[in-house]
Amino acid sequence: MNTNTHDILVIGAGMAGLSCASRLAAEGREVALIDKGRGPGGRMAARRAEIDGEKVRFDHGAQYFTARDPAFREAVAAWEEAGAVARWPEAGEDAFVGTPGMNGPVKAMAQAVLVRWSVRAERVKHEDGLWRVETDGESLTARTLLVAIPAEQAAALLGDAAPDLAALAGEVVSEPCWAVMAGFAGRLGIDADTFRGSGPIAWAARNSAKPGRTGGETWVIHAAPSRSRELLDVDKDEAARRLLADFFAAAAAAPQAPVHLAAHRWLYAMPASLARDPARYDAAARIGVAGDWLHSPRVEGAFLSGRALAEGVLAHG
Ligand SMILES: Cc1cc2nc3c(=O)[nH]c(=O)nc-3n(C[C@H](O)[C@H](O)[C@H](O)COP(=O)(O)OP(=O)(O)OC[C@H]3O[C@@H](n4cnc5c(N)ncnc54)[C@H](O)[C@@H]3O)c2cc1C
Repeated sequence: MNTNTHDILVIGAGMAGLSCASRLAAEGREVALIDKGRGPGGRMAARRAEIDGEKVRFDHGAQYFTARDPAFREAVAAWEEAGAVARWPEAGEDAFVGTPGMNGPVKAMAQAVLVRWSVRAERVKHEDGLWRVETDGESLTARTLLVAIPAEQAAALLGDAAPDLAALAGEVVSEPCWAVMAGFAGRLGIDADTFRGSGPIAWAARNSAKPGRTGGETWVIHAAPSRSRELLDVDKDEAARRLLADFFAAAAAAPQAPVHLAAHRWLYAMPASLARDPARYDAAARIGVAGDWLHSPRVEGAFLSGRALAEGVLAHG
């Protein structure tokens, strides 16, 4: 079994974990991240597909984001300059999307720090003044441990090792969301590129109309929380078919057979209740948590939570 000791180890390299790690690295701290995903994004995911020989990327998680806080606006301006985000006026005058996929800014941050992908934290223990994180086949140790994963997953992971933080996360309940990714041979008879629904469909967007996207007509459709719960245990193909039918009905559009159809179930898509603390850091035990569930259920909330956690660590040396 390998053992690596880090000054700071961050579990979760989504927007919150990377915003935290970037701030710490900028202050000269040694920081490493692990993430169970195969690549950057977390809930700002972009899934690649090939449709009729053309490569496309579906944003099946977050659709766009707004930037209101000065610190986040500064980060967004730097990503815009680097080509990692672009404005998407269709969703609002202050709306941005990642480019060429929604994971653009997460990917940009991940290039500047040490992230190991496809590494899942399975158990956390505090031993001899160090944090020990067990993954499948490895044991990592760190002086400071920061956890930036969805609330339910944080509660399960921290249960025995950090019961106060686990209890904080355990109070949060997240809503699920089924996301459908559909490609069509021709343009659907829907003028607008975004659709805000009521009833079974919460949102849909012409994915191919976002800035910097390639390929033919593609849509991402998000089921409302109640519809997502109803279909929670249905298999992916069945969920995709049913939700596509829901979408055509809700948008009053003529159904068209898709040339590509897939679905992804986000079990913890959005925290419905929040811990109402931008981040929590236990300086004595050197462990902390960040994530949208502590701040606000948005990309900006995740970024600001990560920043707040980094400030907590920096304040205590
Ligand atoms: C369907 C959907 C639509 C959304 N729409 C919008 C929107 O339009 N606008 C907006 O602002 N926000 C939207 N959001 C919310 C936004 O995506 C999130 O608020 C934000 O991305 C959360 O970032 P995070 O870093 O807190 O968590 P995440 O992005 O979930 O990052 C957590 C990371 O931790 C990793 N991880 C989890 N457990 C482990 C483990 N045990 N070991 C190692 N790694 C682990 C995961 O792989 C993941 O990469 C949407 C979310 C979803 C799902």
